Amino acid sequence: MTPNKEIINNVVYKVIFNNINLGMAIVDSSGQFIIVNQQLCSLLGYKQEELEHKTFQDITYSDDLDNSLKHIQEIQNGTIDSFCIEKRYINKFGKLVWVDLTVTAIRREDNQIAFYIAVLKNIDKLKKTQIELETQKNLIESILDQQPNMVLLLNEKQVLFMNKVVLEYFQCTTLDEFQERYNCICHTFIVKEHYFHAEKIKEDQNWIESLLELPKNEHIVMIQSLQDGITRSFNVAVEKVYNRYIINFTDISDTMIEQLALEDKTIHDKLTQAYNREYFEQNIQKLIFKNKSLVFTMIDIDHFKDINDTYGHDIGDIILKDIVKVISHFSRQEDILIRWGGEEFILLLNIDDKSMLKKVLEHLRQMIELHKFAVVDKVTCSFGAAFHNPSNAWQQTFKLADMALYNAKSSGRNTVIIN
Ligand code: GH3
Ligand code: MG
Ligand code: MG
Repeated sequence: MTPNKEIINNVVYKVIFNNINLGMAIVDSSGQFIIVNQQLCSLLGYKQEELEHKTFQDITYSDDLDNSLKHIQEIQNGTIDSFCIEKRYINKFGKLVWVDLTVTAIRREDNQIAFYIAVLKNIDKLKKTQIELETQKNLIESILDQQPNMVLLLNEKQVLFMNKVVLEYFQCTTLDEFQERYNCICHTFIVKEHYFHAEKIKEDQNWIESLLELPKNEHIVMIQSLQDGITRSFNVAVEKVYNRYIINFTDISDTMIEQLALEDKTIHDKLTQAYNREYFEQNIQKLIFKNKSLVFTMIDIDHFKDINDTYGHDIGDIILKDIVKVISHFSRQEDILIRWGGEEFILLLNIDDKSMLKKVLEHLRQMIELHKFAVVDKVTCSFGAAFHNPSNAWQQTFKLADMALYNAKSSGRNTVIIN
């Protein structure tokens, strides 16, 4: 004989109620436990008959009671039929136990609540670990907030934390506000020679990867503070821990100012302030790499010995300084002028068209010729230029430019010749 469906249902429900690995209870509309399963008893440390004499209010941790009652009220108002919350109960031994509670109301035909089915999952360990982690996180953040340096914590995609010093530097109150304004901190780096900035970021990399490819002494950025308007130099230290980056910005403005002043002295000619040979030798490979079409132009003052002989060495010096001023004034910002020695200069230009080069150098030659120099009045220069072929050594280009200059001199001076 097949058993009656109602009987099967009853048995199935009982088996589920008693064997499921979750606490379960039937609770009446006043909160009184009517039936509880064994799992709920072991979760709270009570015997079945002890629990069945209690209400859920009795064993709810006082801080969580209002929230529970608020949800029950919503069920009673008919707004919802069930809810799920995380809350704490007090077990028989007075200890708090975190549970994930789901309550479902079963209503009578008149819509009044007949009883509640409560299902409780023990999340005590999980919750306590979560709370411990949160505490540790807050602790670390408060330690970082006390650092005098700007400190950021990032993963591959975004900033996870920035300390108070960063927020204050950029006059932001929250990390979200910072993100919205700048998107990436690299956008705050000022574009300046000697410093790392957004233009140095390679296409397929983030700024940290590009920075790390540079030697350590180039891990320097310049950022303006919104707090006091001052622009400062920072050394950027990157530490990779697991898949996180800890970035530390140390203010090195004072050392940087000294270093730049020193560097300025070593790469500039003392008399004219044009770059010197030292600069040329240190940077020529970098410049060849950076400029697709580099032109070496040798500029030599015509009959300079006569100027010295006629007006004296001091006047000669003034002419040298003025020549540099005139060339600098009439060339582009990115052109580089080097005093090669004596009254000989090299002008490095990035130009790929011969007729354009001719035009530029002719103009420069004319501007010198037309300039009214002190005492001497008129001074002229001869120009010899050559395009650098990247497959050749720079010395070869140099030789070609020198030959062009020689030809300019032999063809009567005050001339431009391009090899
Ligand atoms: P050219 O047109 O063939 O170039 O004739 P030049 O007289 O300009 O060439 P030359 O090489 O015969 O003479 C260069 C002179 O430049 C000789 C040297 O005394 C002078 N000179 C080199 N350095 C300096 C300097 O720093 N100050 C001054 N006043 N003169 C210098
Ligand atoms: Mg000369
Ligand atoms: Mg010379």
